[in-house]
Amino acid sequence: MDRNLYSRLAAFFPADAPGTRFAELGEGRTYSYGDVEEVSARFANALLALGVRPGDRVAAQVEKSIEAVMLYLGTVRAGAAFLPLNTAYTPAEIDYFLADAEPAIFVCDPARAATLRPVAESKGARLETLGVWRSPQLSAGSLADRALSASPRFATVPRGDDDLAAILYTSGTTGRSKGAMLTHDNLASNALALRDIWRFTDKDVLLHALPIFHTHGLFTAINTLMAAGGQLIFLPRFSVDEVIAALPRATSMMGVPTFYTRLLADARLSRERVAHMRLFISGSAPLTAATHEAFAARTGHAILERYGMTETSMNTSNPYEGERRAGTVGFAIPGVELRIADPQTGEEKTQGEIGVIEVKGRNVFKGYWRMPEKTAAEFRNGFFVTGDLGLIDQDGYVHIVGRAKDLIISGGLNIYPKEIEAALDSLPGVAESAVIGVPDADFGEAVIALVVPENGLRPQPERLAAALRERLAGFKQPKRIVLVKELPRNAMGKVEKARLRASFAEALHVDQAGE
Ligand code: AMP
Repeated sequence: MDRNLYSRLAAFFPADAPGTRFAELGEGRTYSYGDVEEVSARFANALLALGVRPGDRVAAQVEKSIEAVMLYLGTVRAGAAFLPLNTAYTPAEIDYFLADAEPAIFVCDPARAATLRPVAESKGARLETLGVWRSPQLSAGSLADRALSASPRFATVPRGDDDLAAILYTSGTTGRSKGAMLTHDNLASNALALRDIWRFTDKDVLLHALPIFHTHGLFTAINTLMAAGGQLIFLPRFSVDEVIAALPRATSMMGVPTFYTRLLADARLSRERVAHMRLFISGSAPLTAATHEAFAARTGHAILERYGMTETSMNTSNPYEGERRAGTVGFAIPGVELRIADPQTGEEKTQGEIGVIEVKGRNVFKGYWRMPEKTAAEFRNGFFVTGDLGLIDQDGYVHIVGRAKDLIISGGLNIYPKEIEAALDSLPGVAESAVIGVPDADFGEAVIALVVPENGLRPQPERLAAALRERLAGFKQPKRIVLVKELPRNAMGKVEKARLRASFAEALHVDQAGE
């Protein structure tokens, strides 16, 4: 039986494909589900004509566009694995990914073609540009051009549950980036589960402002919507103005926490503007309780926070009905087993105790591409060890307290940065904070806090330190509090702690670090 991800999603496309809407693209352009069928078929045919065979990889470093989505679907239909790459990667980084993944084809934007052609060809990959659909002057010789002259019909290549549909490289803040191998069943089972728990239907219009080189924008958003036969408002990127303008036409949005803080900073965000919305979802980084509460007060909507990662797609979600508890990521979604274990021994922790989050289920990836030892090291008793630290509260809600590698061990005691960050964030004059451990001759590691002041304010570090002394035990007190203009974040809004640790490694020994 065919278990190809595309076939499983297409089973839910609306019946009257040509008359239905898949996406609103701006400037009056729309895309129907009939277009999805036809254009993805043409891309699949074009890939086959270029020699792509089932099991091959098709890598792409392209700006967000509907053509990029069709390339993804065409690749999956052809039975190959799609490998999207962050548009910020430099040619040196692309060199690493192409050497590691050995794709048959590497697709990039025309502006990068001259630089990247030798990189691709030295790795045995054929370079193609993506091009713009039906814009011959912009697309001569591109993949879109080839697709346009290919047949509009394609019999999707049957695949098994365990065959690869995609490889996504993890951001790899330390060491080599690893390729997470995702199967057709990993992605299809997660999309169907999310559609059901979040109640997506063909009446939904999802505001899509996320990048599509990452699991959140590509799989969580697009696959889930397709499994419901719903519609996308497909924005090229997050812009407050465009999101504010589109909100009255949308029913739902998936975003990273910074989307919500930026919307809150705009006076146009109001109850009236979101009257048509039924669901706001947040993930990829922690949503603070303060943001959750401010959003609820302004709009009447409790943001639904969920937790997932490249390797597993979604693991947990706050409930659609019932309390969406701020500062938590809710419960394991159907089909996912989640436990909290001792990071060293793997022994299961009891309720309320902090440990490493481990998950098991059809959502969990097949392993890291060509890294069998690394893969084996990150599985234990059939569970994938996520590397996130968390606990389960008395009502069963999962709380994330940080990444295991961000845990600070000072004088032999475990310190969870999130606890100190939450205390700092609640102080007057503090917009946000990040707490890191830096090398310390005496204690092994010492706590350093980086604080971003609220607009126009300049809280005194000594005052903040005094306030912390009233709230937290002595061993958790920062050795130094440094005011900074902003925190470094990656494209998904995650604070880059490894970068902070590198920048502030000497913070205990210099006077004005970071200011
Ligand atoms: P990525 O593989 O880039 O999607 O990153 C996955 C990581 O993001 C997880 O392992 C968590 O550390 C973090 N993450 C995702 N969702 C949340 C959330 N709702 N709260 C806190 N951290 C999150």
